[in-house]
Amino acid sequence: MTKIEIVSGDITRLQVDVIVNAANSSLLGGGGVDGAIHRSAGSELFSACKLLNGCNAGEVKITPGFRLPSPYVIHTVGPVWKGGGNDENQTLASCYQKSLRLASENNLRTIAFPNISTGIYGFPKSLAAKIALETVRDYLANHIEIERVLFCCFDEENLALYKGAVSELVLFEKVVSEQDIILTSKLASIIWNEHYVPMIGQEQVDYMLSNLQSPEAIEKLINKEGYQYYIIYHHSEPSGYISIRQKGNDLFLSKFYLIREKRRTGLGREGMRFISLQARMLGLQRIFLTVNINNLNSIKAYKKLGFQIDSPVITQIGAGYIMDDYNMSLQLL
Ligand code: ADP
Repeated sequence: MTKIEIVSGDITRLQVDVIVNAANSSLLGGGGVDGAIHRSAGSELFSACKLLNGCNAGEVKITPGFRLPSPYVIHTVGPVWKGGGNDENQTLASCYQKSLRLASENNLRTIAFPNISTGIYGFPKSLAAKIALETVRDYLANHIEIERVLFCCFDEENLALYKGAVSELVLFEKVVSEQDIILTSKLASIIWNEHYVPMIGQEQVDYMLSNLQSPEAIEKLINKEGYQYYIIYHHSEPSGYISIRQKGNDLFLSKFYLIREKRRTGLGREGMRFISLQARMLGLQRIFLTVNINNLNSIKAYKKLGFQIDSPVITQIGAGYIMDDYNMSLQLL
């Protein structure tokens, strides 16, 4: 299920398609992980780097790996920590994001990162781990071509921090395979039965599940109607799912469901952060949804997340069933 792994030791030993180097802006070698990579790759790496004209902080360049087990090296320059007021967080996120993008562009499917900026550049380790993991997590949600991401931790402190942070990390995995679709349909069944029966009755729930949330129906929504589904994993357990689709200039949030025991655990806020990110990536400024007028808990939760009620709306479900809903929307800042 998860493509993110935490490993310890020397990054120059890893058998992956590409390892990332925490270089300095000259790209001509240095101490720490940079020195180790140049030593293992041999002098050809130095010659190749000389041709690259350096690299700015937050940017990336690629070379072969020469004598390294990994065929490629992506060189990125992390930010020097200057107290946090100089865009250090964004620059660090950019290192991870642009490295992944460059890997995707070069058809490299497995990648290992060192703990960029946390050595000589002095970035606080705990904050760096959070930024690294969340940036990679967000990238992976929409890039199924990347198969494995290793975080190679050299010191004990980073290893402990990453192991702790990854176990708490909420993952959003794009629904692609038939197996994912079946799991989504199962989650729908659990959630509708525990949540909607008191509101609309068992008969209507059964109708909606078999007609709108069956594996076949979900498959059609994804492949014919442009919906994107994401399964939410928490502590490695499937905990709910999200379905979104662009409609005009807005993002339509069709489904945002959590199983009962995962409500009130902060997953709602995490999920909404993810949904807002998807909207921004599509250049959209507004998210809208419909919610049953009797679904007071959800209405309250959406209000807490910044949504407003716009208008009541009656939705025809089919077979004479209707839903009394509210339109709700959230304007992104
Ligand atoms: P920066 O200048 O970006 O801070 P450093 O190389 O000083 O880069 O440190 C980045 C991280 O790389 C540190 O956490 C350090 O412990 C780690 N590191 C050093 N050598 C290696 C190695 N051979 N493999 C993996 N990580 C390493």
